[in-house]
This record gives sequence, C-alpha cells and structure tokens, in this order.
Amino acid sequence: MKIDGETKVVGLIGYPIGHTLSPAMHNRAFEYLDLNYLYLPFPVKESNLKEALRALPALSVVGVNVTLPYKERVLEYLDEVSEEAELTQAVNTILVKDSRLIGYNTDGKGFVTSLKKGAEFNPRDKKVVIIGAGGASRAVSIGLAKEGVEKITLIDIVFNKAQSLASHIAKNISKVEVAAVKEEGLGKEVREADILINATPLGMKPDDSLPIDPKLLHPNLLVYDLIYNPSKTKLLSEAERIGAKTLNGIGMLLYQGALAFTIWTGREAPIEVMARALKEELKTQVS
Ligand code: NAP
Repeated sequence: MKIDGETKVVGLIGYPIGHTLSPAMHNRAFEYLDLNYLYLPFPVKESNLKEALRALPALSVVGVNVTLPYKERVLEYLDEVSEEAELTQAVNTILVKDSRLIGYNTDGKGFVTSLKKGAEFNPRDKKVVIIGAGGASRAVSIGLAKEGVEKITLIDIVFNKAQSLASHIAKNISKVEVAAVKEEGLGKEVREADILINATPLGMKPDDSLPIDPKLLHPNLLVYDLIYNPSKTKLLSEAERIGAKTLNGIGMLLYQGALAFTIWTGREAPIEVMARALKEELKTQVS
C-alpha cells in the first residue's frame, strides 16, 4: 500500500475499538480499486470527542465511521444529518465536505441489503419480531419500517424501551403497525412472524442464555442474529436444528461498510473483496 502526501484518510471513532474489523475491510477495498485512501482506527476518549471531531476538517480527513459509545453523542457536533440519521437519532458515518461534518446512518440500509442479498428475503409486507430495543434495534427497525414491512413487534427486558421505540416508529413512519410486547405476548407474535431478529448482545459469550425460548421457533421463520462473532450463536444453532433459515450479523457489517465506502469515495464498493477481508480477519481474531 502506497502512503504519500496525496493519501486520503478515513477511519473509525469509538472507544475502545480494539477488535474492529473495519480497517481490514476498507483497506482491502481501497487496495483492490487502487484508491489512494487509508482507513485508521481512532480510539477517542469521551472527554476528547468534541475536539476529535473538530480536528477532522483541520486534518483533511475525508470521513469516519462512528461506533460505540458515540453513535448518538456525535449528533450535537454535526453540521448536517441525513434523513436516516435524523430518524434513527444515531450516526455511524461522517463525511467531511467543505469543512462541514455531515452525518449518515448506514446501519439500517445495510441490514436490509444483507437480508435481500444474503437470504433473498424482501421485507415488504412481512411481519417482524425484534428482541432488544437498543441502538442496533433502532437502526434495524427503522430500516425495516422504511422498507414497507407490515408489522414490527418489539420486546426488551426494559418494557419502556420497547414501548418508546415503537411509538417513535409509529409517529414517524406511516403504514407500519408497531407494537411492544411483554414476554407473555411473545409466543403469538413469533408464531405469526416471518422473521425473528436478535438485537441483544445475548449469544456473544459462550455461557449466555438464549434470547428467546427455542420452543417458540418454527421452520417458516428466517432467524437473523445481529451477532457475527461467534458466527453461529446458540440461537442460530437452535433455529438451524428445527429447519429455519438463518443469517448472522456479518452481512449487516459488510453492507453498512459498503454504503459508507461509497459516501466517502463516490465509488461502488467491491462487495466480494470486502466480504473476503472480513472473513479472513474474523478467522485471525478467533484463532
Ligand atoms: P444495546 O444498545 O445494549 O441494546 C441491546 C438491548 O437489548 C438493550 O436494551 C438490552 O437491555 C436488551 N436486552 C438484553 N437482553 C435481553 C433479553 N434477554 N430480552 C430482551 N431484551 C434484552 O446493544 P446494541 O448496540 O443495540 O447491540 C445489540 C447487538 O447487535 C450486539 O450483539 C451487537 O454486537 C450487535 N450489532 C451488530 C451489528 C452488525 O453490523 N452486525 C451492528 C450493531 C450491533 P439492557 O440495556 O437492560 O441490557
């Protein structure tokens, strides 16, 4: 990789960001297309967030991804935000243009694209159950609502969180039925659902319990776990065992990255190359 005075810098702001797969994915794509860009991790402590963002135009940085814990917090420092970012109230991609910071959220669209490409699943008019109502759930549920799903059912350990996300979607996106349920109401919703999404961190650790009673799963479901490491969570193993279709979160990571790549470079992202880089990088992290 050539680095010289013309190299354009992009990167990732978060804290901590030790295990990120994004540098491998983007740098491989830049190399493949022979683009003089470099993707760097920027671990930024909370007390430095404002200064770090202010420094981006000063350093001629082209753009950054934003990850935990700053996706919501960066909003107040931006000059402009896209419709998706405004609706989601979270930003995962910033473009520096004419010294202005423009915020985007590619997580929701990235998720929807992964459904269409990874499982040939068109969410229009489908019924969706989402477990967890945190940041990832917000991006995914808004992405699905904009895509014309018939119904979204949300459940979270903290019922109020599910309820407030449900009313936010209902208020801002028309024609979609949204409901928040408690555990006793979940069975009926899953029986009628086409897709079940785990948007909780349950499944990342080997001794985690399942996010849902596996007896509720059925073969007509597509079960999507947003977790990608491990690549097959207990939930996905249970779903596979009963004959349901499954997807893990690697596709969402890939397509949100591909959309960010295009925002920064104006070029179509080389999906296959990026997917391969992710796979290889994950392998090295697991072993
Ligand atoms: P988060 O903000 O912590 O949200 C998770 C939510 O789920 C919280 O509200 C949590 O409640 C709730 N929850 C936990 N256990 C639950 C259970 N058993 N039943 C119902 N709700 C439960 O986390 P996040 O940032 O949204 O991330 C969620 C997952 O998505 C993580 O595994 C993350 O790695 C993954 N993710 C993947 C991608 C991708 O590109 N594939 C992108 C973003 C996130 P409490 O807060 O009370 O615990």
